[in-house]
Amino acid sequence: MPYPHLFSPLEVGSLKLPNRIIMGSMHTGLEEQRGGFERLAAYFALRAAGGVGLMVTGGIAPNREGWTAPFAARMTHSGHVRKHRLITRAVHAEGGLIAMQILHAGRYGYHPLVVAPSAVKSPISPFKPRALSRRGVERTIRAFVRAAVLAKEADYDGVEIMGSEGYLINEFLVRRTNKRKDEWGGSYENRMRFPLEIVRRMREAVGKDFLLIFRLSMLDLVEGGSSWQEVVRLAKALEEAGVDILNTGIGWHEARIPTIATLVPRGFFSRITARLKPEVSIPLVATNRINKPEIAERILAEGEADLVSMARPLLADPNFAVKAKQGRSDEINTCIACNQACLDHVFERKIASCLVSPMACRETELILRKTTSPKRIAVVGGGPAGLAFAKTAAERGHEVHLYEASAALGGQFKLAMRIPGKEDYAETIRYFERQLDLLGVRVFLNHLVKEEDLAKAGYDEVVLATGTRARRPDIPGLDSPKVLTYEEVLSQDLRKKLGNRVALIGAGGIGVDVAEYIAHCPKDGVDEDVLFAETWGIDLTGQAAGGLVKPKVEPSKRRLYLLRRSEGKAGEGLGKTTGWIRRLRLRQLGVEFLQGVTYLKVDERGLHIRHKGEETVLEVDHIVLCAGQEPVLDLFQALQGAGVQIHLIGGVLRAKGLDAERAVREAVELALSR
Ligand code: FAD
Ligand code: NAP
Ligand code: SF4
Repeated sequence: MPYPHLFSPLEVGSLKLPNRIIMGSMHTGLEEQRGGFERLAAYFALRAAGGVGLMVTGGIAPNREGWTAPFAARMTHSGHVRKHRLITRAVHAEGGLIAMQILHAGRYGYHPLVVAPSAVKSPISPFKPRALSRRGVERTIRAFVRAAVLAKEADYDGVEIMGSEGYLINEFLVRRTNKRKDEWGGSYENRMRFPLEIVRRMREAVGKDFLLIFRLSMLDLVEGGSSWQEVVRLAKALEEAGVDILNTGIGWHEARIPTIATLVPRGFFSRITARLKPEVSIPLVATNRINKPEIAERILAEGEADLVSMARPLLADPNFAVKAKQGRSDEINTCIACNQACLDHVFERKIASCLVSPMACRETELILRKTTSPKRIAVVGGGPAGLAFAKTAAERGHEVHLYEASAALGGQFKLAMRIPGKEDYAETIRYFERQLDLLGVRVFLNHLVKEEDLAKAGYDEVVLATGTRARRPDIPGLDSPKVLTYEEVLSQDLRKKLGNRVALIGAGGIGVDVAEYIAHCPKDGVDEDVLFAETWGIDLTGQAAGGLVKPKVEPSKRRLYLLRRSEGKAGEGLGKTTGWIRRLRLRQLGVEFLQGVTYLKVDERGLHIRHKGEETVLEVDHIVLCAGQEPVLDLFQALQGAGVQIHLIGGVLRAKGLDAERAVREAVELALSR
């Protein structure tokens, strides 16, 4: 057995979990869709069949006040029970186990009915909450209990009570948001009364044989958050009140510290769960940035936790568990923690999916069926689009030949994986390479395809996934040796060769990435975890309330200018959950951001610009072009009239608004239609 700890069963209450993998709660947006529960049933059933030990649904509100957004899913009456039964029935039919998460959004609710312990507005919501009256507190406790009773009626195996991330229960726990003078505020004993009353009454109402999981905020990462002593006290009291499993919550949503983004070192926060291990005897769950079986196994083997929770990794690969169990972990489609198609979609009120696996949450509409008319298909370009098409088409039974001009597969992901904190992007390339190998796709590297190659080979269809190239704007002097494109800088790993003063033209996603790459000075021999904790000011000793200490920020040794012509933020198009991190990181590194710039010329002095009505020269050693991209249409144009059936996907189809999410989605949709 490759991962003996991960695949050892665990008895909790009356349940026997087959392994230590929990699929963590994640809102998908299907909860509020017409027909969404049928789709959720298919989504969870697929993951149950993939061997995960226990799953937790997205957050379901116990009443209207607890909505995350208007008309969010609730569990308040028998009509809701009937819909949820679709999920439990489908999961149990696959031999899986599932718990429903009860989430009261408190002051994070994005609607005018929001309530909280006190009328203190959150910095990330426009709605000021109404302070719950004492009767309101009682009513809310009863609503939590009713939701659990109804979940049991719907045949869930248990519930998870969301007590972290800065939602209502968490708000009761800390003075930052609880200013009450009655028995629900003031001393810690009073502040923790709310979750304890919920758990005690819930246990009484649902009986012994129903799993109660509590998601406990072990590290709030906000000023005025819980102290470690308070966390331990609450954990012990929750165990006594009848909780079966304690899950780990890290960071309030308003915290300005990354907790799940790709730059968080893998498994970083399991040390916090480990600290609680000696204090309680019920199983503990480690969470956040656990995306590979090796990391999960290490956490369990070192006794840091009894279970590991993975949400996004099971969105990315429903068969994560079965592949790991069978020693096929190199076949896992690893979550790269980009948040682009999952959390960012949810924040935009769109249905979640996954960048590396667009079939996620679309299980009932994107169905992979074997073809009845196999074709010979040539795919030109081995970037995300070409790779995803080749894999899906081969799975359907087509004969696929993939041509790539360079010496390796991956396209622009080979550049992306050089960016500090995006190293995981290499996993996507590894995944596709392995799949193509298993599926017998013939791959031709170092093969710049010309029109005549395709005409000779007589393919039934040709898919062009030739991507984009860096745009060269029309600025006098760009032929200077000072000027490089982002492609040249990243593909040749020129970080160390660049001068001390660098200007970047263009401040989109790539400009921000390249600025960080150039500004970043890797330190030899420094532990990645220690560096992350110091940079973001995370206390690892358990001494500081809320887990915050002063960050140790080291600006870059280089002077860097990040420029854009229009007004607005750097990296404006980046997702809501990661854009702020990237901008904050550039500020930490001392990158100077100038907007509203007109580029005049480049000469031996540097880059001449007009900014705020004045002409000035940025005396830089190098200028890096990150001014967007243009489609590589050479082959497409040459093939016009050649009688070949051509399809375009990814960057070559449309460079504007391109990202890997779109490239992969287009590729999979096309492959399913052939
Ligand atoms: P490409 O990745 O450009 O691949 C095209 C491939 O075709 C290349 O390998 C090329 O060599 C090959 N090719 C071209 N012509 C021929 C020919 N005639 N014969 C054979 N082969 C040919 N996107 C995100 O969504 N999230 C991110 O976080 C992100 N980060 C990025 C960071 C950086 C630094 C960069 C540069 C890009 C990033 N992107 C990101 C963008 C993302 O990588 C692209 O949108 C995606 O790679 C486009 O995929 P594609 O397959 O269409 O094209
Ligand atoms: P982009 O986000 O469109 O940014 C292009 C930049 O170049 C902008 O600052 C643009 O804005 C400037 N520009 C455009 N034409 C120019 C010209 N003629 N002269 C000078 N400046 C010009 O594109 P990108 O940075 O190339 O990124 C490509 C895609 O990859 C994007 O869709 C991006 O979202 C995606 N990506 C995503 C991530 C991620 O982490 N999610 C990371 C990297 C890339 P101004 O007009 O304001 O100057
Ligand atoms: Fe992971 Fe990105 Fe997929 Fe979300 S979209 S599950 S973060 S790979």
